[in-house]
Amino acid sequence: MAPATEPLNLYEFTRAELGEWLARGGLNAVHAGRIWNYLYYTAVSSLDEMTDLPPRVRARLEQETALGRLPAEHESRSTDGFTRKYLLRLRDDRCIETVLMRFKGRVTACVSSQAGCAMGCVFCATGQMGFTRHLTAGEIVAQALHIDRVLRETSADSPALADPADNSPHGRHERLRNLVLMGMGEPLHNYDAVMKALEILRDPNGLGLGARKITLSTVGVVPGILRLAEEARPVHLAVSLHAATQEERAALVPAARAWPLDELMSACRTYCQKLRRRIFFEWTLIEGKNDGVEQAHAVGRLLSGLPAQVNLIPLNPTSGYQGGPSALEAARRFQSVLAGYSLPCTIRQRRGIDISAGCGQLAVLKG
Ligand code: SF4
Repeated sequence: MAPATEPLNLYEFTRAELGEWLARGGLNAVHAGRIWNYLYYTAVSSLDEMTDLPPRVRARLEQETALGRLPAEHESRSTDGFTRKYLLRLRDDRCIETVLMRFKGRVTACVSSQAGCAMGCVFCATGQMGFTRHLTAGEIVAQALHIDRVLRETSADSPALADPADNSPHGRHERLRNLVLMGMGEPLHNYDAVMKALEILRDPNGLGLGARKITLSTVGVVPGILRLAEEARPVHLAVSLHAATQEERAALVPAARAWPLDELMSACRTYCQKLRRRIFFEWTLIEGKNDGVEQAHAVGRLLSGLPAQVNLIPLNPTSGYQGGPSALEAARRFQSVLAGYSLPCTIRQRRGIDISAGCGQLAVLKG
């Protein structure tokens, strides 16, 4: 939460906290519902649009709070029209990137959880930047709201873009339904802020994102995975694996030295057993490095007995790493080996590579 001298960011509050804050100021907590509606259902752009509030409530909001919207410094659009990337400015003038990806029948927001990242995955542009700071819950929420606003404005301008399957009370305007925490940063390294942001975004009286529509990606932060299992957090879990032996993995993902592969697999088994959920495993396919048949068999053996799905992602280029993406043929060969182990496996559609908005490409550069 912001220091007392600065306005409180309304996006940092859960609905219950908003009610408590009103009550502390001698106001009726019941107004939290209407404010919440303005924040997440109407998705107002300023406090001035909250017209239907008692004067005392409005006055307190104006004196003590602000909407923590993140201004877009830059927008990049991919040539195929499916991806947009936003450079968003934080309150301390640092920047982060957030991506809107359109697939057949759905739109997904890819949000950042940190400015930079401490995990240092060698092929990742964010890892190459290093770590600057954690994002607050409100800064994560504001990214999702930014994408939600873009969608509403886009579908209002072009009704043909609206999803006809959306029978929600939001009407014809397209709203955000899918969220992945796969942008800049390691979400489980910023656990509390990420979980609070998800609580806010899942609130059924607000944006109401469904648990099945949220995926959190981790490089393998074992204590975070165990905590997710313990707290039964309602999100899909995706673990970035990339290699099936400790030595090979540590060379690509330095965080594997802190959380070795055997500990990671043990945490994954605990997660699956406790929650009776499947885990997604992400595998960045690097030509000639980890895309061979032998590696595919090693993955098959490693994941045997786990309710797992593997997503293969041909490497996206970054300036700080020399490797190249595997050819489609190699990806299909890898996939068919995994099929022999009864492991479902998809080859990820590449999106936004021309604007550096693909997996592992986010940094704070204009694309
Ligand atoms: S891949 Fe994810 S965890 Fe690894 S450095 Fe990049 S942002 Fe961090």
